[in-house]
Amino acid sequence: MHTYSDVNLHIDGEWRSARAGETLDIIDPATEEVIGKLAHARKADLDEALASTEKGFRIWCNTSPLERSKLMRKAADLLRERVEKIAFLMTREQGKPLAQSKAEILGAADTIDWFAEEGRRTYGQIIPARSADVAQMAIKVPVGPVAAFTPWNFPINQVVRKLSAALATGCSIIVKAPEETPASPAELIRAFVDAGVPTGVINLVYGTPSEISEYLIAHPVIRKISFTGSTPVGKQLASLAGKHMKRATMELGGHAPVIVTNDADLEKAISVSAMAKFRNAGQICVAPTRYLIQDGVADEFIDGIVKAAEAIKVGNGLEDDVTMGPLANERRIPALEELLQDALSHGATLRTGGKRIGNKGYFFEPTVVTDVPTAARMMNEEPFGPLAIVNRFSDIDEAIAEANRLPFGLASYAFTGSLKTAQTLSSTIEAGMLTINHNGLALPEVPFGGVKDSGYGTEGGSEAVQSYLDTRFVSQMR
Ligand code: NAD
Repeated sequence: MHTYSDVNLHIDGEWRSARAGETLDIIDPATEEVIGKLAHARKADLDEALASTEKGFRIWCNTSPLERSKLMRKAADLLRERVEKIAFLMTREQGKPLAQSKAEILGAADTIDWFAEEGRRTYGQIIPARSADVAQMAIKVPVGPVAAFTPWNFPINQVVRKLSAALATGCSIIVKAPEETPASPAELIRAFVDAGVPTGVINLVYGTPSEISEYLIAHPVIRKISFTGSTPVGKQLASLAGKHMKRATMELGGHAPVIVTNDADLEKAISVSAMAKFRNAGQICVAPTRYLIQDGVADEFIDGIVKAAEAIKVGNGLEDDVTMGPLANERRIPALEELLQDALSHGATLRTGGKRIGNKGYFFEPTVVTDVPTAARMMNEEPFGPLAIVNRFSDIDEAIAEANRLPFGLASYAFTGSLKTAQTLSSTIEAGMLTINHNGLALPEVPFGGVKDSGYGTEGGSEAVQSYLDTRFVSQMR
């Protein structure tokens, strides 16, 4: 039997409360109960974390890539050993069903392993010189201490990509993990600490997000920032990073189109995309949002996705058989209700769902709306909830124009039986990621990131490692 307890900061090797003793409540979104207290860091705590990360960086950048890799792999194994306990914490604080929490934790362990290995291959270059007396080298060096800001939808997965890339390359890191879901990311950090990562390499803080980001981004010790969250906040943090000349990776909001053509395998299109839509109650930046279905199969597709939505069992994620938990926080309920009301007032049709369930816990029905005009807010703003918008098209160029209409460009999906259409979409869809005829996104070894207002930089694959490295050119005469 697992229990949920209070969550502390991790600063300079010590798990401790905030210097000023301030705390925040942690709420279970399925019951609305306060399940614990979270230490709230202020400037005095941040100053200690900054001094610690500077010290940690000097130790870690001088630790060999092989040694770093061994410690990281040990942390991954500890995470696997502790999966049951951590999954319980994650489900209690975030709401997702236990099976999804476990999958997130085991996926995080794989991410650590992959980055642990990739960090051993941060090769430089020998550049042929113009004189036999000169050796020219481009070497890769860690960028320095990193500040990472992560959201509540994937409490561990959002941290682990930044943490693993930073540690694999020899950077130290201060993680500002999500206040609403703090215990599971703290357990991720604990796995690294218990694996033997030296003091100061990882510091963990929680508090008031804007206060922490403004202080850390501006601070001269911090050399790079990485943020995952909404586009408006990302733009603020990116401008702050620009002002202080800090490297930045921005993984922001999306509004993923799903194009389904008449010749697609419809059964697969429905099952794969409904699973991607309603997982984590739709609170996923790469979740399918605008379904664009060709006329010939639109009615059949709508029937299928409505059936899939109605088959979902909504409830407390700790209960057996529950396939969708509550929304992670109270403010998502009015946000979804307002988007729906607005769409209906623009003439959209509600096919299923559309309401809060009960009056305790932040449960919301899996919802499908069709024929939503472009002017409706939900066609322009990320719903970030269990809401599928299904519209029709007749000509593929029309679907491409709609897919590219928004300023977002994160994930996109397509289901088609035509190789020609697949190739056309690969070259015309303005998105950082396109997955065709299956859901193949978010593995550690492949790029993960957006274009346009969805941000810049990637958090997967070898490019993710490069974004934590500087290139230093050395020219040496004998
Ligand atoms: P929000 O914009 O207030 O916050 C989003 C995240 O950014 C949260 O984790 C929050 O703690 C953090 N944040 C907010 N202001 C910050 C600041 N000044 N400095 C550092 N961090 C800051 O929105 P919300 O109500 O928490 O979530 C709603 C929206 O956020 C969603 O509609 C979605 O667009 C976006 N979101 C995106 C992701 C993602 O995976 N890209 C994850 C969570 C939320």
